[in-house]
Order: sequence, then structure tokens, then C-alpha cells
Amino acid sequence: MRKFLIAANWKMNMYRQEALELIRGVIEQTKLFPSVDIMVAPPFTVLETVNGEIQNTQIRLGAQDVFFEESGAYTGEISPGMILDAGCTYVIIGHSERRQYFHETDEIINKKVTAALKNHLIPILCVGETWEERKQGRTFLVLNQQILFGLQGIDNEKLSSIIVAYEPVWAIGTGKSATKEQIQEVHAYLRGVIKEFTSSNEMAFNIRILYGGSMNPKNAQEILSQKDVDGGLIGGASLNIDSFSSLVQIA
Ligand code: PEP
Repeated sequence: MRKFLIAANWKMNMYRQEALELIRGVIEQTKLFPSVDIMVAPPFTVLETVNGEIQNTQIRLGAQDVFFEESGAYTGEISPGMILDAGCTYVIIGHSERRQYFHETDEIINKKVTAALKNHLIPILCVGETWEERKQGRTFLVLNQQILFGLQGIDNEKLSSIIVAYEPVWAIGTGKSATKEQIQEVHAYLRGVIKEFTSSNEMAFNIRILYGGSMNPKNAQEILSQKDVDGGLIGGASLNIDSFSSLVQIA
């Protein structure tokens, strides 16, 4: 059976003291729910701070992005090995904000996924259509491309550790989540794409697919009860101790 993962993306928020308060509160309020996997992805500057707090809890550390080279003259970039060294288990790759503001292409994203896997990190590959694309009836086409290009060249053994996050761009940070029907439809579709890509029913069944986009304690119950939804990638609601902990409790 697939296990729920509730994953926090703090984005470019949280100075050291705030990060400490947030993670301590989350640890306190989620320790009664050990059956749920939890990931927290803070900014790089507080990875170490957060890592120091989560030892001996079910919370694992994630990075919000990674570069695909191992080392060298790439000013400002952080390698998969460095992320691992900082204590990370997971790394978010291909978030729509990276695609939109930093012009990350599927080719770059594929290199990042490949490099992360090589370094034994678990990639959370984000895919999602814009509102324009949905209106034009291109949702499945866009998602298909993002998955097929993003995972190109990766063999089934490595693929078994990756996580996909369906994040419709129009639902991120807007307060307007996709409906449970839209979410289930896309998640089932993505499982089908994985089945075709891997030629394996088992892989398609076992891959974890998260939903992200304005998930909060009010809508989480109905989203998480969809049969192909295995958890959430949470932005805004992950910045508040009570909201994030409620999501873990609901899961
Ligand atoms: C996200 O950025 O991954 C996200 C889901 O954000 P929010 O929950 O704020 O919509």
C-alpha cells in the first residue's frame, strides 16, 4: 500500500528564528501521527537549522531545487551531493515557479532528476498545466510531455523511488484548488502515463502522486480521499504550525 506524504514547500520564507519556531511547533503537533510521512523543504540557508531539530522524528528534509552538476564553476548553484550532505532525503524538481521565473525547461528538469537519483535523493517531480492550457483542452498533452521528457532515460529501478506532484499552475497560491474530480482525473491519467512509460502495472500502482495547489485543512479531506492521491505538496498552509499539522492529522 502507498503511504501518504505531506510535503511542505516553504519557498523563499523563514529566517532562522522563524524556521526554528515553525519546525518545533510542527514536530510537537505531528508526533502523534507517525504513520504519515512528512517532508519539509526550507530555504537552503536554514537546511542545517531545521535538520538539527528533526532528528529522531518522522520528518525528513527536502531541498526546493538542485543543480545537475556535481561541482565546479557554477556560481550560486548547489549540487545534489551538497544537498545530501546537508541532510536532505528529498528534492523538489521542476516546480512551476522554477519553470516560469527561471525558465527551466523539461530538458533541464530531466538532468536534475537524473542527477538527484544518482545521488540517492528522492526527486519530487512537479508537473502541471496553466489555466490557458486547461481552457484550450491541452491539459493531458502538457502533462504527458512534462512526464515523458522529465523522466527520459531513467530506468525502472531508479523510477521506483521518484514521486510525482500534480500542481495545476492556476491553483498554486491562488486560494482556488482544483476540484476533487479534476484532481482524481489527472492523477489516474498520470498513473496511466507511468504505466505506459515503464510497461509495468506494479510501478504505476506504487508510484506516489501528490496534489499541490491551495490545499488547506478545509479542502484536504476530500482531496486526500481520492483514490489516486497519495498526499500533498503544500505551500502557503505549510507556513503555519496549526494548518500544516492539521493536514498531517487529516492524512
Ligand atoms: C506550491 O507552491 O507547491 C503550492 C502548492 O503552493 P500553495 O499550497 O500555496 O498553493
